[in-house]
Amino acid sequence: MTVTSDAADLSRALLPHLEWLRRAGVTLLPAVPGPSSLVPGPEPACANPGPWTEDPSPAAPAAGLDAVRREAEACTKCRLCEGRTTVVFEDGSREAPVMFIGEGPGAEEDRQGLPFVGPAGQLLTRILLAMGLRRDEVYIANIVKCRPPGNRTPEPDEVAACLPYLRAQIAAVRPRAIVLLGSVAARALVGPEVSITRIRGRFTDVDGIPAMPTFHPAYLLRNPGEKRKVWEDVQKVRDLVRSSRPDPLHDPPPPTPPPAPGESGPTVPGAGEGAEAGGAHSATGPEAR
Ligand code: SF4
Repeated sequence: MTVTSDAADLSRALLPHLEWLRRAGVTLLPAVPGPSSLVPGPEPACANPGPWTEDPSPAAPAAGLDAVRREAEACTKCRLCEGRTTVVFEDGSREAPVMFIGEGPGAEEDRQGLPFVGPAGQLLTRILLAMGLRRDEVYIANIVKCRPPGNRTPEPDEVAACLPYLRAQIAAVRPRAIVLLGSVAARALVGPEVSITRIRGRFTDVDGIPAMPTFHPAYLLRNPGEKRKVWEDVQKVRDLVRSSRPDPLHDPPPPTPPPAPGESGPTVPGAGEGAEAGGAHSATGPEAR
């Protein structure tokens, strides 16, 4: 086989992957330092044949988040695959109006396969309750899907390798607001130089969606005096979601009006009492009132 036909084969193989990244919202690819990218580098020790390596054309997000999840669960794109027990992809509702994005799985998350189930997760659950939301009414994901050893901060190349999965999640869920929990999430999605202390409390833009950077619950466990700031930040998110115009993707249809006097028709219990009180994705709740 000639060099020319090798290059042509490579281009054909890469095109579906690049198209998937584009549809997932990735417009820039990180430059890889070192030797030519045509020279394969060392593979992670956990590299094994899986859907990603067998099929270079991963399913587009439009084909469903389940396909993206399956690809992540077989992923060996970075060294974090080496020590993981499970790939921690998501929790909550894929139709949620609010998406919370953290850093990466800890020990308990790695064991259970769910994000935010350790001590920091329990604090996040309490924050949600204070907002009037249950965990199953929001969508929760992390920047990296596999646990960094010793709970260290994910390296930039690990974040870059994993980010297409999160972009696909954002594109598929399309929440009305995003909450960026901590500096790793803020740097990955707002800019590598940002300081969470400086940008928290003000909405910024992530893929066309209002995103509120705030402190990570794990930081609050170490610095409980900062809880008030996080409460102020999430109140802004709650208010934004409440004031958002009705969205047919997230809001239940309005109740059918009762029949006019003299007309026959089904009786609709509770019609006119307001759909929001029973809406699965309402930001209202007993704690928020
Ligand atoms: S952290 Fe992300 S990119 Fe790295 S192996 Fe896990 S799923 Fe793949």
